[in-house]
Amino acid sequence: MIGREPSVLILMRLGIFLKFVLYFVLLAVALGAGGLLMYKGYRADHYEGVASAQLATAVVGSATVLDQAIVRGEQEAREALSLFSMFPFVLCVEIQPAQGADLRWPPLPCEIVKEEKYPLHYGNILSGGGGLTFYVSSEWIQEQVDRELYIGFIALAIFLLLFVVGSGLLFHRIVGHPVGYLIRSLRDISQDLTKQELIRKLTRDEIGELTDALNGLLQRIRTYQAELVRLASTDGLTGIFNRRTFFANGEELIKSHPQGVYFLLIDLDHFKTVNDTYGHAVGDVVLEKVGGLLQGSMRTSGTRLPDIVGRLGGEEFGILMSADSIDDAVSVAERLRQTIESTQVGIGDVSISITGSIGLARPAVGDSLDDLYQRADTACYRAKNNGRNRVEAAG
Ligand code: GH3
Ligand code: MG
Ligand code: MG
Repeated sequence: MIGREPSVLILMRLGIFLKFVLYFVLLAVALGAGGLLMYKGYRADHYEGVASAQLATAVVGSATVLDQAIVRGEQEAREALSLFSMFPFVLCVEIQPAQGADLRWPPLPCEIVKEEKYPLHYGNILSGGGGLTFYVSSEWIQEQVDRELYIGFIALAIFLLLFVVGSGLLFHRIVGHPVGYLIRSLRDISQDLTKQELIRKLTRDEIGELTDALNGLLQRIRTYQAELVRLASTDGLTGIFNRRTFFANGEELIKSHPQGVYFLLIDLDHFKTVNDTYGHAVGDVVLEKVGGLLQGSMRTSGTRLPDIVGRLGGEEFGILMSADSIDDAVSVAERLRQTIESTQVGIGDVSISITGSIGLARPAVGDSLDDLYQRADTACYRAKNNGRNRVEAAG
């Protein structure tokens, strides 16, 4: 629908089911009406044939009786003619004897009868060449056809209703329900693409194939999304959290645990000398190694409150950790210091050792993460001043 005007036909906005019903009813009504019209012409011919055949049989059967009645007189002849009134479609009948005046039943001229009619003439039937003319009621023919049409129309309407309801239920089961489910699931899942949900496949037809295709697409999107999140949240060199993510996650942690969380700021000692001595590329390898070491030394997952490890920039790393007391936190920091000190980074033939100075701080009441960072930085600065490769806790 992208790019279409909002004034687009309202039909386009109807659901598939309503469209189906609407189009189907229109089609059925057009076909039904055409069929009934054709049927109407065919049945009118039929009833005209019926009237003509019944009268012909009656005329042949009654010729002798009529001849005798004519001989007996006008009155007798009229009475004999009145027998034809048993046919409901006969409006008027005229006798044209070989000699003498015409006789009619009813006795008045047939033209007087107002009803629409048409003549049926049977000549040469009476002795001496006389004949009979019947005036058949067009309305009677019409009534017979209308009655049949009425029944046909009712039958068509019932059939249509049953068909629309029945096929509608089937359509809903086969198409409407699975498509509706597909749309709802896709909407739900697209709210949060990080959930590893897939759309349940309800059918094994084209809708099932569409479900498979969408699930494939969802998985690709999730893979790319996870990769994007990883790239945006981690430091390219060390693979641990970058400064932005470290602080974002840290804010959450401080908010949920204002007490018992400690900030460790680790700054590598004389790192400029490492770069100057071995080159920037070697310096990078050392940073990568230290990042891995720090991450590996902390509990960054599990049921206990996880620690957060990140590279804050250059050769400066930050750790937010939970501990029961300042002494515990200091001993963790001391352990980290020793780990860095005892690690040898081997590059080719050379083996480089490095040390780090660690500033430790715990939040005071009303401290923001930034305040905490500042105090850890001050403690770290003191560690540098006091000879490096040591841990200092903020007062
Ligand atoms: P101090 O003990 O006082 O901390 O001395 P330092 O040399 O470690 O401190 P300084 O701030 O003077 O130098 C930091 C050095 O870290 C300088 C910079 O080239 C280096 N550095 C920062 N980022 C990177 C990096 O991504 N890769 C490499 N190889 N070196 C980096
Ligand atoms: Mg530094
Ligand atoms: Mg340094």
